[in-house]
Amino acid sequence: MTVLCPFCNQPMEGIDPNEYSGYADMYICGACQVEQAIFWDSGERVVLEKDDSTELEQ
Ligand SMILES: [Zn+2]
Repeated sequence: MTVLCPFCNQPMEGIDPNEYSGYADMYICGACQVEQAIFWDSGERVVLEKDDSTELEQ
């Protein structure tokens, strides 16, 4: 299965699925450095933007 980046529409690279216990696969876009998690049970796709997601707590 090919996963395309939601921003630049290029194929994303798979990341080691063992880190996520096998229920989701992680992909990263080499161009945008955006990570996307795909949950195979629900089909849900969650985009993780590195710059915005790590500084939410004050
Ligand atoms: Zn991209």
